[in-house]
Amino acid sequence: MRFDLITIFPEFFAGPLDHGILRRARESGLVEVHVQDLRVFTKDRHRTVDDRPFGGGEGMVLKPEPLFEAVESLLGQSVSDASKPSAPDAKSAIVLMSAAGKLFHQETARRYAQLERIIFICGRYEGVDERVADHLATDEISIGDFVLSGGELPAMMVVDAVTRLLPGALGNEASAQNESFSADASGEAGRASRDTSHSLLDFPHYTRPADYRGWSVPEVLIGGNHEEVARWRRAAALKKTSRNRPDLLRRE
Ligand code: SAH
Repeated sequence: MRFDLITIFPEFFAGPLDHGILRRARESGLVEVHVQDLRVFTKDRHRTVDDRPFGGGEGMVLKPEPLFEAVESLLGQSVSDASKPSAPDAKSAIVLMSAAGKLFHQETARRYAQLERIIFICGRYEGVDERVADHLATDEISIGDFVLSGGELPAMMVVDAVTRLLPGALGNEASAQNESFSADASGEAGRASRDTSHSLLDFPHYTRPADYRGWSVPEVLIGGNHEEVARWRRAAALKKTSRNRPDLLRRE
């Protein structure tokens, strides 16, 4: 799987790419991450990437030309609007990070994990010329209902969520199928939830010491009865979901 990150801050990604699962996935060749400096694709002496908005108002907007040039040079072909929304092919996506985009969910991550290549466009300032969303990007994605100052962190979050779904990325293969928002969340709880088509949060985890400052680990987890443990986890996942995310239980 190949990720390209188009940004005006190429240095930004050094930290997040160099730790844990992402680092291992890169070292083993499971994923390739290429950071592309948007300014490389400018043609003027000042390497201008932004300009004032038509119609007036605050701030600056990322210009369309360097973004189109960057994506087209990465693809080795020009983007024709006619090929939307599956441009440039069914195995690739061009994802514009945008607070005004469609919400990113675990389901989106699962869909992206099937692809061979994702090109991310990281916005800055007041955002990106709308023709990029209309004629260049295949997807316009938001990571949540809040506004950040750039698309770099959001793109990194998507890269992380997708990478850990690739077969071989996690040490323990089972773990990606057994967590919050996965169809199998909480093991049996997930299977039950699949029947009713909603997903559960992960069940609570505990480790040693069994008693910490007088707060003890639920007895059943120490007992070693697998069936009882499974039952407890299912109930605990349900309880936690209804406390923290009742919307997940209501969602059809
Ligand atoms: N004026 C825009 C916000 C621009 S923030 C608005 O009100 O919608 C600058 C850049 O940060 C955006 O172009 C986008 O790339 C990124 N960004 C900010 N919040 C984001 C979010 N929730 N999800 C994804 N990208 C986001």
